[in-house]
Amino acid sequence: MGALTRAFNWAATSIGKPESWTQSHLTSVNMMLTSRFPMLVFWGPDLITFYNDAFRPSLGNDGKHPGSLGQPGHISWAESWPVIGPMINNIMNGGEAVWFEDQKLPLYRDGKMGYAYWTYSFSPLLDDDGQVGGVLVTCNETTKSVESTARLAESENRFQNLVREATIGIVVLEGEAWHISIANEAFAKLIGRSTQDIMGKNLFELLPEARSEFEPIMQSVYRDGKSIQNNNAAYTVQDKNGQTIEGYVNVLYQPFREEDGTITGIIEIIQDVTDKVKAELQVVSMYENEKSLHREIAESEERFRNMAESTDVLIAVSNEKAESVYFNKAWERFTGRSQQDLLGFGWTDMIHPEDRERFVDYYMESFKKQEPFANEFRLKNNDGNYRWQRVLGPPRFRPDGSFAGYISSCFDITEQKQDELRKNDFIAMVSHELKTPLTSISGFLQLLEMDAKKNNYGFSTAMTAKARRQVGKMITMINGFLNVSRLEAGKLDIHKTRFDMADLLQEIQADADSLYPGRKLVFDPVEHTIVEADWHKIENVISNFLSNAVKYAPNGSIQIACVQKDNLVEVSVADAGIGIRKEDLGKIFDRYYRIEQGLSDNGVSGFGIGLYLCAEIIQRHNGKIWAESEPGEGAVFYFTLPRGTDLTPGPSPTKRGVSPE
Ligand code: ADP
Repeated sequence: MGALTRAFNWAATSIGKPESWTQSHLTSVNMMLTSRFPMLVFWGPDLITFYNDAFRPSLGNDGKHPGSLGQPGHISWAESWPVIGPMINNIMNGGEAVWFEDQKLPLYRDGKMGYAYWTYSFSPLLDDDGQVGGVLVTCNETTKSVESTARLAESENRFQNLVREATIGIVVLEGEAWHISIANEAFAKLIGRSTQDIMGKNLFELLPEARSEFEPIMQSVYRDGKSIQNNNAAYTVQDKNGQTIEGYVNVLYQPFREEDGTITGIIEIIQDVTDKVKAELQVVSMYENEKSLHREIAESEERFRNMAESTDVLIAVSNEKAESVYFNKAWERFTGRSQQDLLGFGWTDMIHPEDRERFVDYYMESFKKQEPFANEFRLKNNDGNYRWQRVLGPPRFRPDGSFAGYISSCFDITEQKQDELRKNDFIAMVSHELKTPLTSISGFLQLLEMDAKKNNYGFSTAMTAKARRQVGKMITMINGFLNVSRLEAGKLDIHKTRFDMADLLQEIQADADSLYPGRKLVFDPVEHTIVEADWHKIENVISNFLSNAVKYAPNGSIQIACVQKDNLVEVSVADAGIGIRKEDLGKIFDRYYRIEQGLSDNGVSGFGIGLYLCAEIIQRHNGKIWAESEPGEGAVFYFTLPRGTDLTPGPSPTKRGVSPE
């Protein structure tokens, strides 16, 4: 600029050639030209423009340089003169120096109009005569720094907005006191507060309960300057009302650096993953539960197996299709067969041929009913001998309630059976021995009665008749015992003939008056029905029903009916007696079962074998037997038999009196 200034044709300007310039003018221009600080000088009444090398870059490439040199200020700086002109003129007129910072002024440079920011001062330059001869402009273009500051502010603003709007929690914590300088709503919400509640506070003064969990990580990021991502971190904090908030977060901890790289805090970016983690935990806990359930099942199976393997009781497990799927060692030891041979239905080979069909039928029936079963059969052992087994089978159900089959255990009851057999033999023998004298007594009584009648001995006639009835009862009882022992010995034979049930009932009716004098028996309706059955055994059953009705219904009439129902005949005996409780109804057909209701006080005798025999007889006829009753309302005993296929009665129904008993 020194060279340009020297070469300039000053003579053409209002300040004239340099030779004519005052000393002050020259000194001012020199000082300005040699300064390394951007400066301009406006000199003389026209404010002729001088500027130095340091100022030169602010004029750009295609604009005021070099054209503005030597020009009057209002021409060289025409675009900004409206602002600076008055201030410069004021100084020329003796006004004070002025100073401005980052002032925006219009500027033509680089071939276009724009703006520039300046920090500048205008100060007076005195001439030799002590008057103000010009104005020194010391200036610094601050456009770049102002613009970058503006950009910074804008980016910070944008950052703040971004933070505020983000659905992810963001918090900037300054210093190791963790002073919250920036935080968004999402973060505030995570800790049960609003941004106003937390701005400017120290994090752990708000949340002392979270310090031990989170501060060590924050300190490490702050000190080492390395980001840390911490996923699925559990947190528990108290909200502003002291309510507990529990959840899970993914946290990214980043160092917060100043421009020079120093770390002054940390930024935490926090994602609430509570729902996700809870869902995952639920899945995990379901899985764990299932695992522990499996473990428990495995343990319980192990226990079961240990127990099953170490006992002498025969234990087997079957599935819902009645196939046996497990036999314990005791089964293998007892039968001498391998598990493989027994599986499925292999075990049925080992049952005594006489018991096999009966038991297998019963067993298969149980799978339909899914009820506990209990039965007895003979099972062939290792030595080829049959041993009596009592089998009990509770049904198995899966956790969902579905039927899974049975688990059965068999106990050897051979000794017990033998004892029973001996007892039965004894009873049979005693009964048999008693029967002959009793039959004789009955015959003698009959003769005595006839004789008494003939001689008109009224008292003797009555007494012998009574005695004969009592003996008759004894004979019935003894027959009962004999039948039981025959039954138990498997010797209760059924001799079927074809007859009309009405004929049988007629015969019973004929005897009834003498057997049950004074009782009203109503035989109605009695339908003609052909059956194929054992006349005497069925007669026994009906007589049993009748004698029970007489025994347990001291008053009222007794109704006997015989009706056809589809392909069945149904015989019933109804009384108006004491009735039977529900819980006893199913048991009265069991052997020796008697209802304890102080009946012995009423002199009602019996051994509880009558109905047991009836049930066995009906069962052997493929019929059904049952009773219906309410306590105090009387009882009705029923049995059904299949009707005969041939509808004409047989040639000679066996009548009573020809009974083998
Ligand atoms: P019992 O010889 O004891 O009569 P049963 O086998 O004939 O033996 O009957 C079994 C039990 O059933 C009886 O003890 C009695 O309690 C009950 N019972 C039988 N018939 C009747 C009935 N008609 N009314 C009330 N209870 C009856």
